[in-house]
Amino acid sequence: MGSVAVETQKQKNGNSTAAASTLIRSYAPATGDLLGEVPVHTTDEVQAIVARARRAQAAWGVLPVEERAERLLRLRDAIVDRADEIVEILSRECGKPRQEALVHEVMVIADLATYYCRNAARILAPQEIPLHLLKHRKSVIQFVPRGVVGIISPWNFPFSIPMGDVFAALVTGSAAVVKPSEVTPLTMKKAKEIYDSTGLPEDLFGVVYGYGPTGTALIEAGIQKLVFTGGVETGKRVAAACGARLVPCVMELGGKAPLIACADADVERTARAIVYGGFANAGQVCVSVERVYAHKDVYLPLVQRVKKLATDLRVGDPAKDFFDVGAIIYPRQIDVALAHIEDALGKGAELVCGGHRKPGPGQFFEPTVLAECTDSMTVMNEEIFGPIVPFQKVDSEEEAVTLANRSHLGLNAYVFTKDRARGRKIAERIEAGSVVVNDVLVNYAASETPFGGTKQSGFGRVHGEDALRDMAERRHINYDRVASPARDPLWYPYSPKTFHWLQRGLRMLFAGNGVVQRLSELF
Ligand code: NDP
Repeated sequence: MGSVAVETQKQKNGNSTAAASTLIRSYAPATGDLLGEVPVHTTDEVQAIVARARRAQAAWGVLPVEERAERLLRLRDAIVDRADEIVEILSRECGKPRQEALVHEVMVIADLATYYCRNAARILAPQEIPLHLLKHRKSVIQFVPRGVVGIISPWNFPFSIPMGDVFAALVTGSAAVVKPSEVTPLTMKKAKEIYDSTGLPEDLFGVVYGYGPTGTALIEAGIQKLVFTGGVETGKRVAAACGARLVPCVMELGGKAPLIACADADVERTARAIVYGGFANAGQVCVSVERVYAHKDVYLPLVQRVKKLATDLRVGDPAKDFFDVGAIIYPRQIDVALAHIEDALGKGAELVCGGHRKPGPGQFFEPTVLAECTDSMTVMNEEIFGPIVPFQKVDSEEEAVTLANRSHLGLNAYVFTKDRARGRKIAERIEAGSVVVNDVLVNYAASETPFGGTKQSGFGRVHGEDALRDMAERRHINYDRVASPARDPLWYPYSPKTFHWLQRGLRMLFAGNGVVQRLSELF
C-alpha cells in the first residue's frame, strides 16, 4: 500500500468477516444464513485488474460512440432478461423486498442504460464554441474517453448505484473497475456474471473485492477518475487519497433530507410520502426523508396519519412474503438507530410508534416515528440511515426553510403544498442538490437529471447530460479558419510601436460599448 493508504474504520462483523481475512463471507441480514463468499483481492491483484481494464479500453475507446451504445444495449437486455436473478440476490443479500429490488435497482438501471445508450451520441457529440474576439480561429470541444474509471460503492443499493456508473463509464469509452461494499459483494458478482455472458470485452469491466484498503489500492492503481458513493467520513479520506494522486473524483455522500409540510399540504398524500420516503429500503437510502418540518396547522393530523400508516407496515423476510419493510443490511445501523432514539427521548421527544429492534432471527427494526423533536437532537442533525422519521413542529414556512438549511448536508429535500407555484418558490431557497415538490425519492429515477449533493453531501453529479460529459475528458481543439500569416503581430519581437497600437486597441475594443461588446451582441 502506498503513502496515502487509509484503513477502513468499519468492522462489519455482523454481515461479513473482519478485515484481516482473505475471504469475505456474505450473510443474509434477514436470516443470518451464509450466502457465499468472495476473495479479498491483494494490491497486486487490484493493479493487474486495472491494467487489464486499461488494455481492453484501448480497443473499446476508439469505437464510435454509436457502436459502444449498441453493444451496451445487449447488457441492458441481459439485465432485463435476468432480472429475477438480480432481484433474488438483492432480496437475499440486502433483505430488501422484491418489489424494491425490482423497481429501485433493476428498473432504475434499465432506464438509465437506455437513456445513456440512446442519447450518448448526441450528448458526446463535439461542441463548437463561437469565439467573440478571435474570429480568425475556431474552437471545438471533444469528449474523449478517460481510461479506467474506478467506482467505489456502498451496500444500500449494491446494483443500481455502481451499475449506473459502469454504463456511464463504458458508453463514454472508458473501462470500469468496481469495488463493491464488503457487506454486499455477491450482488456485484452476479452483475459481472451477467456482463460476461453478453460477449462484451471481459476485462473492460472489472470487479475488485475487499475492505477499505482495497478501495485505496484501486485509487492508487492508476485510474483516471473515481466515482465514490458512501459516507461523509470515508468520503473525506477517499477524496484525500484522490487528491494525493490528482485523480478527479465525484463524491456522492450522505444525506439528511428535510421534508417541509406547508400549512396547506394535502395531509393524506404527505403522510403517505413520508412513510414511503422514510421507510423504503428500511430507511437506508441517502435521500430518505430524515426530518419532517411540519407547519403547526398540519402537524397533528400528519403525525397521527403517519403513525397509523407506519404501524400498518409489515416488516419481515422478503423470502417469506410480500413484506413492506425489509432487513437492516448493515447491523451497526441498529445501534445508530437506538442511539438516535435514546438521545431524542432523553431531550423530550415523544415516541409515536416503533422504537425497537425486532426479535430475531435476522436484523429488523420497527418503523419508528418520533414527534416533538427539536434541533438540539442528533436525530434532527445527523444522518440516521434507518427506519426513523422525526417530526418537528414549525410556526411558519420561513422557519422550516431556515431549519432545513441548518444542516451540514444537502443532498435531497422535499416540499409539500397544494400551491405548486409556492412549492417551487420554497424549493428555490433550499440548499440541496435536488429539491422535489409533492413527491419523494423520485428524482433518482429521472435519468435525464443530475443527481448529487451540496455542502458535505459531496460534489460532482451522476445521471443526466452533464454527468455523462464529465465522465469523459474534455479536449479543446482550437484551429485556424483562414491561412495564418508567417508573422503574428502579437509575437516577438516586442516594440514600442506595437505596444502603442495595443494600448489604443484596448480602449477601442473594450471601453464602454466597444467593438468586442458590439461583436458579442451581433454573434
Ligand atoms: P462507507 O463510506 O462506509 O463505504 C462506502 C464504500 O467505500 C464501501 O465500498 C467501502 O468499503 C469503501 N471504503 C471504506 N473505506 C475506504 C477507504 N479508506 N478507501 C476507499 N474505499 C473505502 O459507506 P456505506 O457503505 O456504509 O454506505 C452508507 C453511506 O453511503 C451513507 O452515508 C449514505 O448516505 C451514503 N450514500 C450516498 C449516496 C449518494 O448518492 N449520495 C447513495 C447511497 C449511499 P467497505 O464497505 O468494504 O468498507
